Amino acid sequence: MSEIETLHEKKTKYFDTIIIGGEVVDGSLAPRKKLDIGICGDKIAEIAEPGALNDSNAITINATGKIISPGFIDSHTHDDNALLKAPEMIPKISQGVTTVISGNCGISLVPLIPKGNLPPPLNILGPKSDFTFESLSQYMLAFEHAKPTINTAMLIGHNTLRIAAVKDLTRPANKTELKIMQELLQIGMKEGAIGFSTGTYYRPSRAADESEIIALAEVISPYKGIYATHMRDEQTKIFKSMDETFETAKIAQVRVLISHHKCASPDVWGRSAETLALIHSAQKSQDVATDVYPYNAGSTILEPEYVDERIRIFISWSEPHPEMVGRDLSDIADDWEVSQKEAVEKLKPGGGVYFSMDEEDVRRILLDPTSMIGSDGLPNDINPHPRLWGTFPRVLGHYCREEGLFSLETAIHKMTGLTASYFRISDRGFIRKGNFADLVIFDEKKILDLATYSNPKKISCGIDAVFVNGSLSWLDGALTGARKGRFLKHSH
Ligand SMILES: [Zn+2]
Repeated sequence: MSEIETLHEKKTKYFDTIIIGGEVVDGSLAPRKKLDIGICGDKIAEIAEPGALNDSNAITINATGKIISPGFIDSHTHDDNALLKAPEMIPKISQGVTTVISGNCGISLVPLIPKGNLPPPLNILGPKSDFTFESLSQYMLAFEHAKPTINTAMLIGHNTLRIAAVKDLTRPANKTELKIMQELLQIGMKEGAIGFSTGTYYRPSRAADESEIIALAEVISPYKGIYATHMRDEQTKIFKSMDETFETAKIAQVRVLISHHKCASPDVWGRSAETLALIHSAQKSQDVATDVYPYNAGSTILEPEYVDERIRIFISWSEPHPEMVGRDLSDIADDWEVSQKEAVEKLKPGGGVYFSMDEEDVRRILLDPTSMIGSDGLPNDINPHPRLWGTFPRVLGHYCREEGLFSLETAIHKMTGLTASYFRISDRGFIRKGNFADLVIFDEKKILDLATYSNPKKISCGIDAVFVNGSLSWLDGALTGARKGRFLKHSH
């Protein structure tokens, strides 16, 4: 741009908000730089050298000593129902998250109006009465009505499709059932879903074979949709599950994301070096990435087959025994004088936090260039895993600042630019002129998660301000009242 043009633009341009004095980490891995940002409407209208933006009519935010980064994108959530039921989305916006990918692990709120009982794991989203959407377009209307504070893009879940279409969940779908699932998925993609998720770890999908998954993944291929998978096994059969993942994605010609990558049993602790090497080798011929949360415990529903009596498990919710929430399964089993598996039979439907990982594996996966950050938070749990409230500040405060695992630029890239690029979310994830103004201002010296296993619903510290679509939506630990979240349709 010539000097004359710059001057001209300076004269005519007006801004709604100017953020001055901060250091911009733009989401791309580029080194931080002192820059001022001008927001106009919902977009980043200007990025300029410090002091270059002057508009006395604009709200001016002084970010001196702070980091300005793209709004964080939570690549792995179960927020489908929370976006409607608790649209303030405090657990997420308080961390600087401005977009969530919902519908993970084969579990989506749409398209399903259940006829019989609602089988687990769908109950992690809410009660059967909350499943009222036959189509994504109906959900999008409810989303508009609820006015959440943050954006979402949605995957359509395989467990959900099977419950909608397959009569006997203990076998693969027959031809007619497969056709119904393909049609439902096709409609979802046409209406704007970002892809398809599987969760063959869970009973409703366990009987599905590779050909069923391929036939469904093929539906999303023309839309350039993403295939996210909670694999069949993350324990002793993890390598076999990874082969299945690579093969199904390759045949269907889709980009695949291995969800919450982990080695989830003492039998495979330490083997993430091998799993990551397998991913790197697959990447030579296909698109593969992973997401990861920064904790060595996982969380899911209670099932007797998930209990091996070796690792610590505590109860995050239980319908028949709410008084046991927060207690260790081994103590409950001792009190009741039964085995842990038998105790789980009595406690379900319910959920647990499983200390199934080794810290070295968590660190290795976090550090790997193929991983992006996804919380996997469970907003409907009574005593949720702290990842729901703490994931992003924990990566920035604990792993980046305190442990020095990676640079701030790398940490931010894993929660912004990398995620937007892999999910093909356009005009977000990077601080660039013309992009949507989803922004976070935080103090890199103070940012930290405060949510713990015993006190999990705690707002993190160090996040000063969060902008969603140009509107200041979170400031100094509180909502501002702005509710500007949008449903993001796939861009192809
Ligand atoms: Zn999962």
